[in-house]
Amino acid sequence: MSVPGKADQNTIRRHNASLVLNELRLYAPLSRADLAKRIGLNRSTVSSIVAQLLEEKLIVETELRTDKIGRPGLLLELNPQGGGMIGVEMGVDFIHVILMNFVAHIDWRRRILIGDGEPQETYTHIAEEMIRQALQQAEQMPLPIKGIGLALPGMVDAARGELRYAPNLRWHDVPFGSRWSQRFGLPVIVENNANAGAVGEYYFGAARNVAHFLYLGGGTGIGGGMIMDGRIFRGRGGFAGEIGHMTIEAEGELCSCGRRGCWETLAGPRAVVAKYRSRMEPSVGGGVRLDDDEIGFAQLVEAAGLGDLAALAVLQDAARYLGIGIANLVNILNPELVVLGGVLGQASDLLGPIIKETVKQNSLFPMRAALSIVPSLNGADDCVMGAAALALDSILRQPV
Ligand SMILES: [Zn+2]
Repeated sequence: MSVPGKADQNTIRRHNASLVLNELRLYAPLSRADLAKRIGLNRSTVSSIVAQLLEEKLIVETELRTDKIGRPGLLLELNPQGGGMIGVEMGVDFIHVILMNFVAHIDWRRRILIGDGEPQETYTHIAEEMIRQALQQAEQMPLPIKGIGLALPGMVDAARGELRYAPNLRWHDVPFGSRWSQRFGLPVIVENNANAGAVGEYYFGAARNVAHFLYLGGGTGIGGGMIMDGRIFRGRGGFAGEIGHMTIEAEGELCSCGRRGCWETLAGPRAVVAKYRSRMEPSVGGGVRLDDDEIGFAQLVEAAGLGDLAALAVLQDAARYLGIGIANLVNILNPELVVLGGVLGQASDLLGPIIKETVKQNSLFPMRAALSIVPSLNGADDCVMGAAALALDSILRQPV
């Protein structure tokens, strides 16, 4: 048996520190003995890691507890002020920035609407100003900021921290990672918004610590974040998860990607709203009627609830198509959980039963046996919390 070298020892120590922080994140308060037992390490190794984490103020000692054989020990938990994260979500027409402490409490937030068609430089400057405000806020608290996470509506090269292409914004090749890490002197993690949403649900939401799950982000189209073995599944170029563009109807409607019959032309929020508009005449159903220019997906759901039969019909159609697409993905990925995020999650009372029934009909028995389909827990904060979670994830993976 070979003796591990210094580099290996550091890697092992970092890995163990990461395990300790994760156990405390999920199950605190815990004693050193609890930690040793849960992780399967000996007491002295755990004590030495705990000492280092205490020194770095990432964890704190809380109350005294006596164990079964009468030995007193201090319980440990994460230090809320141990480290802060800034989460940034850039949407098609808004920027949302939050400041989050080490136990996932949002201490400050700001959301700004951006006019359609503003150039990328304007967006970026506004986002940078908002980050500066978040940093000022953190300094006053004080909360030592450990990193910035950025969620973007497009294809992202996460390894390089670059946005490659955002179709709805028409942006190409923007190196946010290097630009902001230089500007703010902090690590910057850049991700596609659905991947960020998935990471957020993994850390703080409906998929807490679930190793295999699928997150559906519904904004304008349908994005997918696939967590496999507790990690984002990326594929070769990092672009995996463009589930909104799987072909469901070969001769279907034209999609924003230039192809036909993509899933999001049948079940994506923007397409569903467009379908409702085209059904408005001649008059169908009763109840409330929406003015054309104020219809969004959320309004459509509300109208259906108030008795607008046309709204109900298009949403029921959409739910069936959502179910078909989810069944395909379930048959391929065998997840234990599907999380409906964004506006899809907010409409899950209405859509959920039809989605579940359709998935049941279209997935293979062993796949659906232990499958749950649930709305996201973070609601409209899915992506921005996910962005902060990206920074948290990088701290937890390399804590010492
Ligand atoms: Zn498409």
